[in-house]
Order: sequence, then structure tokens, then C-alpha cells
Amino acid sequence: RNSGGSGHSHFVRAMSDDVQTRVSMLHGLRAAIDFKRGLSLVYQPQINARDGELVGVEALLRWRNDAARLVPPNEFIPLAERTGLINELGLWVLDAALARLARWQAQGLALSMSVNVSSVQFRNEDFARRVLRLIEHHAVAPSAVVLEITESIALEDHAQVMGQIEELRRAGVHFAIDDFGTGFSSLSQIARLPADQLKIDRSFVEKLGVESDSSRADHAMAATVVMLAAARSMSLMAEGVETVEQRDALIAMGCEKMQGYFFGHPMPAEQFEAWLATRLQG
Ligand code: C2E
Ligand code: CA
Ligand code: CA
Ligand code: CA
Repeated sequence: RNSGGSGHSHFVRAMSDDVQTRVSMLHGLRAAIDFKRGLSLVYQPQINARDGELVGVEALLRWRNDAARLVPPNEFIPLAERTGLINELGLWVLDAALARLARWQAQGLALSMSVNVSSVQFRNEDFARRVLRLIEHHAVAPSAVVLEITESIALEDHAQVMGQIEELRRAGVHFAIDDFGTGFSSLSQIARLPADQLKIDRSFVEKLGVESDSSRADHAMAATVVMLAAARSMSLMAEGVETVEQRDALIAMGCEKMQGYFFGHPMPAEQFEAWLATRLQG
């Protein structure tokens, strides 16, 4: 582009639009938390693909803003993290997910509840205690609760993070490492994180069952995750499974637990219950 002047003003205008969008998104999110409106959870089934049994669900946050637009979490979670809103938002998610788990347990459903937790939430030194208080309040089994953390946790204060993870694990809460291998932290840092489960990221699952040069690196990555899990006695969960080929490739690699559109989309609680009912009949 050669018209430097007008190009520059376009840039400034575009930038201020972006700032405006973020400020209004922030206001909307703040109001959603304060007035408990527009926030909800959807639940994606986690299946043992060997026998088809339901083993758990992952709770995923949904936000419908005042303009009735469903804002994707990938847009508002990073903003909530930068502004600290994630602390309150994360506690809302935990409270809602544990309330749901308590109801399902009361109905006799044996399943675990995986909840995504941002690394930022561990900066609050009260975080572990608050989680334990919520577990107690809803009277759910701590061992049915899986907190999904990401490798970005390695960038946080080590002692503070480890102290809180250990406190929660002593109480029986489980941890999963999400999006493994997609971040920038060193393998040795991640390999040392105390966790019970490794999640094979969708980006590696995508190429399974496909023969190509570029898929070979993804196969290798998935295989590495499988080996690491075995070496550390951690369980495995694959995500983003969309095809029967991916399912079979994962089973052949030794990964039996998985989630993805092949088995079920994330669903509101009532829809999940209906989905479960038709499965039990079928
Ligand atoms: P994630 O934890 O890796 O969640 C998996 C994402 O993949 C979800 O997107 C899910 O809807 C989608 N997905 C599941 N199965 C398939 C599949 O077979 N194919 C494809 N293409 N996608 C699939 P979603 O719900 O939009 O969430 C995006 C991310 O936002 C999550 O990634 C997580 O990092 C974050 N997130 C969602 N809810 C929460 C929350 O309550 N707290 C925090 N801190 N982060 C959350
Ligand atoms: Ca997750
Ligand atoms: Ca993931
Ligand atoms: Ca992700």
C-alpha cells in the first residue's frame, strides 16, 4: 500500500473499533456475571470407546450477550483472563457444574464432571479452598471432579500452583492436562505437572486415520502423549473425535476414553438427559 496517510487512519480507526468491541464485551460480561444472565453450561459426553459406556462429561461455558449473539468462549475467555473477571466467572462455572453433578449423582448416574480451569485462577491463593468449599456445599464426591488445566500453568508462580494442586489432589480431586503439546512450554516442565489424565488435543486427532506426510507428525505427537501417560500412570482422553477412523486409530494406540462430535456434541443439561435416555433404550 502506498497511500501512507489514509492507510494509517484506516489502521487507527480499525484499532479503536477493536478496543471499543472489547470494552463493550467486557461490560456485557461483567453484567452477565453480576445479574446471572446469559451464562449457561453445555455438557459433552466422554465415552469409553471400547464398550461405549459413558464415563463422564466436560462442562463448557456458553455466553449469550444482550444482542442475543452466542459469543464463542475463545473470544471472551482470554478477555476475562486479562481483566481478572475469570476468577468470578470460573467460580460461577464450578458452582453450576457441581450443582448439576449433584443432581445427576442423586439420579444414580455414575459419571465424572470435567471443568476447565484457567491458569490465572491459581493466582488467587484462596482458589483451592473455594473449590473444596463448593464440593462440600454440593455434597459431591471429590473424585468425580476433574479440573482441566493447560500447560500455561507452568508460567505461573510454581510454589503457589503446586501447593493448591496438591491440596486439591489430597482431597481426591482429579486433574487433567488439556491441549497438551499445543503450547510453548518445555516438555520437561509439563511432564512434571502432577495430573491424573492427559488429554490428546483435537489438532493431533484430526489427522489420525489419514495417510499423508503432514499427518505423520501428528501421529507421532499422539503416540508421544500415549507413551508419556503410560510412563506417568496417567489416564488418557482424546478430544475432537469426529470419525470412526479416528476412533479406531486411538483404540489401536491404547487410548480408550474419548469425546467428540462422533459420540456427541456439547448439549444443554436437559438435552443431554434426553440423549442419555435414548441411548439407554437403544
Ligand atoms: P477445550 O477445553 O479444548 O474444549 C474443546 C472444544 O472443542 C470445545 O469448544 C468443544 O465444543 C469443541 N469440540 C468438541 N468436540 C469437537 C469435535 O469433534 N470437533 C470439533 N471441531 N470441535 C469439538 P468450545 O466449547 O467453543 O470451547 C473452546 C475453549 O474455550 C475450550 O477448549 C476451553 O479452552 C475454553 N473454555 C470453554 N469453557 C470454559 C470454562 O468454563 N472455563 C475456561 N477457563 N475455559 C473454557
Ligand atoms: Ca477442556
Ligand atoms: Ca482441549
Ligand atoms: Ca482448547
